[in-house]
Amino acid sequence: MLRRNSHLLRRETKITRLARGIIGVLALMASHARAEPLTVAEIAPGVFVHSGPHEDLLHPNPGDIANIGFVVGADAVAVIDTGGSRQVGKALMQAVRARTALPIRYVILTHVHPDHIFGAAAFLEEKPQVIGHARLPAALAARGGHYRRNMERDLGLSAADLTVITPDRTVTATMEIDLGGRRLVLRAHPTAHTDNDLSVFDTATATLWTGDLLFRERVPVIDGSAKGWLKVMDELAAIKAARVVPGHGPVATDWPAALDPQRRYVTLVHDGVRAHIRARKNLDQAVKSVASEESGSWLLFDRYHARNVTAAFVEAEWD
Ligand SMILES: [Zn+2]
Repeated sequence: MLRRNSHLLRRETKITRLARGIIGVLALMASHARAEPLTVAEIAPGVFVHSGPHEDLLHPNPGDIANIGFVVGADAVAVIDTGGSRQVGKALMQAVRARTALPIRYVILTHVHPDHIFGAAAFLEEKPQVIGHARLPAALAARGGHYRRNMERDLGLSAADLTVITPDRTVTATMEIDLGGRRLVLRAHPTAHTDNDLSVFDTATATLWTGDLLFRERVPVIDGSAKGWLKVMDELAAIKAARVVPGHGPVATDWPAALDPQRRYVTLVHDGVRAHIRARKNLDQAVKSVASEESGSWLLFDRYHARNVTAAFVEAEWD
């Protein structure tokens, strides 16, 4: 009996090993299937942008929904946002390598959201400095595990594809980095889209990367402060940018006019929830009516608008 059991156990171990082997091969095939370089466009000399499609973070998209890219100087490369999984980060690295052999010295994360950060792990072999807002480490610590579990469930990715990389340098006000004849100015903003938004300005071409401080076409997500975001939009509008790379949507060349639709939306939400609170209406009533006229103007409106009104309502109640 004992011998039979140990025989069974051995057989089981063999089967388990075989299954693990098959899973390993499948995972390898899956990661190789995504290993082709990400499509990027050179929007200005040395400035490359991958435009994330307007989709939700759901299978089979492996976290490729945000605009991400890189800037190439005479000595080094800076990657700006990394995509929503190691696979997307790896494909972005292939896109860098298809254009230059220069070292990737910096990986800049514009904020905590999963579609921007989880690709960072793919760049670690290059030993870059990972840079983010001074409040990014705390935000990653608070939310990273939750994001990973959600993305494992929704995207069918493994924990190994979703490693949280904490910045080794942080920005409290501004910071300059030099890529060789090319300075990038990194600016840490007060709470707006999130409480850890960082923008990047390439002085050589006057290209402003806003991260998710600018949404175009896809409805903005208010995860920080509607009131704060309106102020930050004024700061951004004052920057003399020849072109702007938003977190989502097409690159803009009409700056600051390109801010107008987002400013209109956030203003309607900001003012609408306050009017409801003054009229002693409740959150449900606000969710139904505040800025509902914007419905036709934005993609994924139904997915995020109620959440935006809720966040702004709670913020306004404490205001
Ligand atoms: Zn975001």
